[in-house]
Amino acid sequence: MPYRAPVSDFQFLLDHVVGFDEVAGTELFAEATPDMTNAILTEAAKMCEDILAPLNHIGDKHPAHLENGVVRTPPGFADGYRAIADGGWIGMSARAENGGLGLPMTLTTTVNEMMSSACLALQLNPLMSQGQIEALEHHASDAIKSVYLPKLISGEWCGTMNLTEPQAGSDVGALRTKAEPNGDGSFAITGQKIYISWADNDFTDNVCHLVLARLPDGKPGTKGISLFMVPKIIPDADGNLGQPNDLRVVSLEHKMGLHGSPTAVMEYSGATGWLVGPEHGGMAAMFTMMNNARLGVGTQGIGVAERALQHALAYAQDRKQGRAEGTGAIIEHADVRRMLTTMRADIYAARAISLMNAVAIDMATATHDDTWTARAAFLTPITKAFGTDIGVEATNTGVQIHGGMGFIEETGAAQFVRDVRVSTIYEGTNGIQAMDLVARKLMDGGDAAFRLLDDIVRGAEAAKATHPDLANAVWEAAETLRETTEWLVNQQDLNDRFAGAVPYLRAFARVLGGHAHLASAVAGDAGHLRLATFYIKRMLPEHAALLAHTREGAADLAAITAEDLVAA
Ligand SMILES: Cc1cc2nc3c(=O)[nH]c(=O)nc-3n(C[C@H](O)[C@H](O)[C@H](O)COP(=O)(O)OP(=O)(O)OC[C@H]3O[C@@H](n4cnc5c(N)ncnc54)[C@H](O)[C@@H]3O)c2cc1C
Repeated sequence: MPYRAPVSDFQFLLDHVVGFDEVAGTELFAEATPDMTNAILTEAAKMCEDILAPLNHIGDKHPAHLENGVVRTPPGFADGYRAIADGGWIGMSARAENGGLGLPMTLTTTVNEMMSSACLALQLNPLMSQGQIEALEHHASDAIKSVYLPKLISGEWCGTMNLTEPQAGSDVGALRTKAEPNGDGSFAITGQKIYISWADNDFTDNVCHLVLARLPDGKPGTKGISLFMVPKIIPDADGNLGQPNDLRVVSLEHKMGLHGSPTAVMEYSGATGWLVGPEHGGMAAMFTMMNNARLGVGTQGIGVAERALQHALAYAQDRKQGRAEGTGAIIEHADVRRMLTTMRADIYAARAISLMNAVAIDMATATHDDTWTARAAFLTPITKAFGTDIGVEATNTGVQIHGGMGFIEETGAAQFVRDVRVSTIYEGTNGIQAMDLVARKLMDGGDAAFRLLDDIVRGAEAAKATHPDLANAVWEAAETLRETTEWLVNQQDLNDRFAGAVPYLRAFARVLGGHAHLASAVAGDAGHLRLATFYIKRMLPEHAALLAHTREGAADLAAITAEDLVAA
């Protein structure tokens, strides 16, 4: 089933919903004209449809594997990667002085979504490089920047992130990998990392590992962690490759999905590394990469959901079953139409949120205005968790629409479920994202949240004249959300926030989705209005139940014992 990139959806959202004109109006991003934007969307769509999309099924059937210590990638992945690199898509938002195109993150987000739809397993590779490029731009020494950035941006080399260890998953501060000074400015890195995505491949000349490790005087916990660049092959100061480093892929995981992407156990045996950022300041540096990847992973969820929708829609228009009106195909049944429309409306909402997030990042970069920085930070966990939750839900619904055929692998619907499942887990589980939202992201007393709600309320008030029913529903939802946000800010015991963090994040996403759909109804055609009406009348009301859940606090949950959870 071919993939069709949703170019007009992106164009409409950029033009009418997420405020991209403000980004293009800045001096920094003045090149992002409508012509340039259109050219990017069209060119990326072509690559994704023609080159990457056919690789998705191949990657599932021919997993990446280890052959005498060398990672072998699925047939065609090397060519797909080359197309991504040669198109300049890896370094789209990298700074021009290092060979990047210096384009807004908003445009990178549209391209990343299309690549995720086309072939998630392969797209994870350039996504890791993009995050590493941003981390190096902000935190690396000039010497590291000059050797690594041009090669990462061109795609000759690729990047990975190494946080996880067997005893240090969500709790990164528990890591044990050691870094000892070699006395020449470099460090010897020793330890084991697990679940490392794209830890090796057979199509780039080098693999650059960003590794979190602890120096001898590093305190326990996250405050004692430093970040190191540890290349697979050690380059000289001009980037010429020299000796292999003391590191190896021990094994690759057998996974539920995402088979085309090698996920490795890595062993570092005194490997040579160089500090990125200050000693003991590794978490701050790694957070640059993680925030980039969190937006990217949210976008992955949306991308796979989009592909699943296209698949399910084609099946629903073809499959005849029961006494259906019109064409006689199952799309005519009310429940099938409900499933398809739910997928479409959720994907649209999540896509809009990811682009609002990217716009905030671009505005922060272009203006250095702290309110944009705070907005980007607030939206990041929402994009990550909601985008990937929608990925899981929509792909599951896609299987349901196929009936029994959805459970049969040859249809392809099941692969989407298997591939996207990990996206709610990696880059910080969605539970951890929600905890971040209600704790760190409300440390400003709710300022960023309240400013966002003010914008939503303003949008609803402006829409009241033309779309009173829809506008009132969004206005009321925003005010209910404001009350719960105030309640959360007032909870001193963080457990009272954490107990309802996941429903709160979901409610916030629901309301942001209502805001985006309302703006589309106002600016768009009859189709936009019908989709907005479905979302606002049937899906937005979910926020009320979610917020009631949030305000219950932690006491009743804490009172439930492990024995209560097991039937007697
Ligand atoms: C395919 C794949 C690719 C990956 N790629 C990479 C990579 O490239 N680099 C890398 O470094 N890592 C990678 N990871 C690791 C990934 O980021 C971790 O799996 C993830 O952070 C969760 O850690 P964990 O698996 O140890 O789960 P745990 O931390 O053990 O979590 C188990 C459960 O407990 C919950 N939990 C844990 N702590 C808390 C808490 N304090 N409060 C509330 N709930 C909590 C979690 O939300 C989760 O539901 C990858 C993982 C997979 C499966």
